Amino acid sequence: MRITFLGAAGTVTGSKTLLEVNGLRILIDAGLFQGLKELRQLNWKKLPFDPAGIDSVILTHAHLDHCGYLPRLVKEGFRCSIHCTPPTIDLADIVMRDSGKIQEEDARKANEQGFGHHRPALPLYTVKDAMAVLPLMKAHGYGQEADLGHGVHFSFFNAGHIMGSAGVRVQYGRRSIVFSGDLGREKPLFLYPRENPEAADYLVCESTYGDRLHSKTSPYRVIKEAIWRAYRKKSVLLIPAFAIERTQEVIYIIHRLRMKNALPPIPVYLDSPMGINATEIMLKYPQWHRLSEAEAKAMVDAVRLVRDPRSSRSLVRRGETAVVMAGSGMIEGGRILDYLERYLSDPDAGILLVGFQAEGTRGRALLEGATELKFHGRFHRVKAHIRHLDSLSAHADQREVLNWLQEMDSPPERIFLNHGERHQADALRVKIESMLGWEVQIPRLGQHFELS
Ligand SMILES: [Zn+2]
Repeated sequence: MRITFLGAAGTVTGSKTLLEVNGLRILIDAGLFQGLKELRQLNWKKLPFDPAGIDSVILTHAHLDHCGYLPRLVKEGFRCSIHCTPPTIDLADIVMRDSGKIQEEDARKANEQGFGHHRPALPLYTVKDAMAVLPLMKAHGYGQEADLGHGVHFSFFNAGHIMGSAGVRVQYGRRSIVFSGDLGREKPLFLYPRENPEAADYLVCESTYGDRLHSKTSPYRVIKEAIWRAYRKKSVLLIPAFAIERTQEVIYIIHRLRMKNALPPIPVYLDSPMGINATEIMLKYPQWHRLSEAEAKAMVDAVRLVRDPRSSRSLVRRGETAVVMAGSGMIEGGRILDYLERYLSDPDAGILLVGFQAEGTRGRALLEGATELKFHGRFHRVKAHIRHLDSLSAHADQREVLNWLQEMDSPPERIFLNHGERHQADALRVKIESMLGWEVQIPRLGQHFELS
């Protein structure tokens, strides 16, 4: 066995791990690098392997930093199966198509407005490229063992991170390796909690929050206060929305608050075609979360859905007192920028960031107190009231990762910490070494290891 870390090493995006077992070449996740420009440029770098020579992809979940490179991989010649859970097929499909659209739009804008370094600017992939991925995707439930050939098997287990998210256990003879994928919380809002890891010889574990504990702030209280503030100021509360999961969690919380008569009369808009689609996918898979059908439907009925761009533009223009959820969650693009163009310099407006904000993103800049943000080709002053809700994270924090590791029946020979910035992985390494006495490795980008 040999493992090569081609993404999410020293950073939280671009998840791509090549596992070579008995002549098989398996890629665990094919995610997009996001955030800092140096990272995004890695998406354009030629892969150190021939995509046509990969035998299969195992996809842990539908987040862009795990599935967003698939269209490029297929465009470059990959033709075999992509294994994932049923909800991941639907969710990844909309995530990849949206990404293709953004890539096309960015290239078009760069060409029109003359920014960007390449002439002409080209998209990394198109919507059409993204659509070519779907026919390759194969569905597997949790706990179903699947044969990859060459004596190699794998199975998924529930990672409790987003709907359909999975950890992976790959087995060859007596040797095994487990990938945590993105690991969820101990008590998710409406997902089934993650499963305990089975014993394995090697473990690859994420470390996004390896250096900290999530705040215990009640998300209900923060969202309630932010909505009341918008109502009192007769302004807007903008929630940059992660279309998958986080949007549904925020809608669920708003729905629950409404049921308790805890909110003022204020309309709530979901201005995100992808967020709307993801919410509908949640309704399609009632057995993959804990909400009853009636509850899921009631929660969707509590928001006004804005699909077409014209209604979106009109909502921005109207300046209504309202709560608006719009993508993207780290303010990297999407309709949220149209709202920020109008509201970022308005001290009465509120912006509630509801998830992890990667280094180099506009969301992170806002969290760190930036006084200006650059978008649409120019700088905008930041005057709006910024608040961060970090207790809704879909990632386990340091204690929750350690608790999960401790549930392993026997310690692995080695644990690799990926999917974390260097200091996050390092902090978790120190804890694992001192508490569990395990051998910990923090791989660098491109580094490979021979596993006996
Ligand atoms: Zn994720």
